[in-house]
Amino acid sequence: MKLIFLGPPGAGKGTLAAKAVEILKLPHISTGAIFRAAIAAKSPLGLKVKAIIDAGKLVDDETTIALVKERLSQADAQKGYILDGFPRTIPQAEALAAFSAVDQVVNFDIPDSSVLERLGGRRVCRACGTNYHQVFNKPKQDGVCDSCGGEVYTRDDDKAEAVQKRLEVYRDQTAPLIGFYRGKGLLIDVDARPAVEQVVENFRKALGV
Ligand code: AMP
Repeated sequence: MKLIFLGPPGAGKGTLAAKAVEILKLPHISTGAIFRAAIAAKSPLGLKVKAIIDAGKLVDDETTIALVKERLSQADAQKGYILDGFPRTIPQAEALAAFSAVDQVVNFDIPDSSVLERLGGRRVCRACGTNYHQVFNKPKQDGVCDSCGGEVYTRDDDKAEAVQKRLEVYRDQTAPLIGFYRGKGLLIDVDARPAVEQVVENFRKALGV
């Protein structure tokens, strides 16, 4: 099954994708995570995108599309995938359609007020990418990842100014994808407001898995 997870920053796409990976046994492909790994490794890609990402802006379509095209050509993605954070613009969606036929697009629906609350407290493991929240989902030991012992930190783009920018970018450039995929009959809406376990249930029901 080839799935796209769509929704504003803070809708819980990353957390839900981690759960969906267990249910569907598909690779989780997050463009944000690939960019963050490149930044941590100080690779040429990482050096090129760091300032853009820290400011909450989008990496250019050409770079992002080439990255995803290469990733989807790898062996583990042939049986299907969960794409999280891509596409984020109409040109990205059009490019994707030319090299891969997506089965469903899951739209995680959530109001701005909840997004701000979630992103304000979001923490992430620098080593393995597991998401936490300083109020709703704390690691057992402050600052230490339960899964791998890595450092749990606040992403630069989760700081207040970048969050506002990311929401604005989402509204202008990514939200139009909802209509784009609805028009193709591929969109499934999932209410992302409840706690994770309930959203997983909503997801299972919507998809029939
Ligand atoms: P995410 O982890 O999905 O929130 O992505 C973090 C950041 O990486 C975004 O705010 C963008 O700066 C960049 N990014 C991730 N995916 C894309 C994409 N499909 N197109 C452009 N920029 C992206």
